[in-house]
Amino acid sequence: MIDLHIHLDGSLGKEEILRLAEISGASVPEFEFYDTPPSPEGGLKDYLKRFELPLSVLQTPECVYYAMLFLAERLKGEGLEYAEIRFAPSLHTRGGHTETEIVSAASDAAKEAFERGFPMGVILCCMRGIPREKNLCTASIAADFVKKKTGIVGLDLAGDEGTYPNSLYGYYFAFAREKGIPFTVHAGEARGAESVLSAVRQGAKRIGHGVRAAYDEKTVSEMLAAGVTAELCYTSNLQTGAWSDAKEYPLRYFVERGVKVTLNTDNTAVSKTSLKREYALLRVTPEEERILDANARAAAFANRLVD
Ligand SMILES: [Zn+2]
Repeated sequence: MIDLHIHLDGSLGKEEILRLAEISGASVPEFEFYDTPPSPEGGLKDYLKRFELPLSVLQTPECVYYAMLFLAERLKGEGLEYAEIRFAPSLHTRGGHTETEIVSAASDAAKEAFERGFPMGVILCCMRGIPREKNLCTASIAADFVKKKTGIVGLDLAGDEGTYPNSLYGYYFAFAREKGIPFTVHAGEARGAESVLSAVRQGAKRIGHGVRAAYDEKTVSEMLAAGVTAELCYTSNLQTGAWSDAKEYPLRYFVERGVKVTLNTDNTAVSKTSLKREYALLRVTPEEERILDANARAAAFANRLVD
């Protein structure tokens, strides 16, 4: 199994957060809200509020390094063969460290995880709703690190898609295309098929979620024509209201249409899930698992680590 869409901050459990608080000397957070399962009524905005807690203990390079390793060890223990862990370095500079220092720590963790037998890639997230200069700073760092083959493998655009549509981020797509950085984008989560379509037309070969493109013929045919891979996240999609019908989730629809689809966790802690659980909830058959694995391998930004 391969997880191509998993966020560092939203995947840290209570014990891991407490260890990080101890390492950094940050105050021990109050877990009540973090532990409350997100509900579709609150939508994506409410879901995203839970990230504030893990971010409070992830403000030093050392903590980012250990958090990455904690997560890599856990995923390895769960039997995953590869994962691409994503995070937004611009949200980790409150301790006075630069984005480059934070990204270097993540890169060191990826190298260490590889040494310990778990190949992983790190995707750097630009964020919807923050200033352009900050996102361009993240994107420039990504360009530099990706080129040097440091374990940093690509870019993402994450955050509140409902409030901040793709049309505000033409510069993100243009920069990634121009520099040749592999990139994905959260789309079709808080907005509909049109958001996926615009991302595809901006050159995205991977779409974070993309679930709401299902049954939209125009978007699906353009996804097929462009060879786009969708990073579906079942539990998260139900919790954010991206998809409402738990029994009619479009994983099999995408497979049958020939769209390259993958199944991922998004946030193991916030969504209280694991990749094994996601596969079990959707009753993925061995034949379907073979297809999902092949799709994930083909779409991975760091193929050299998987092979
Ligand atoms: Zn996500």
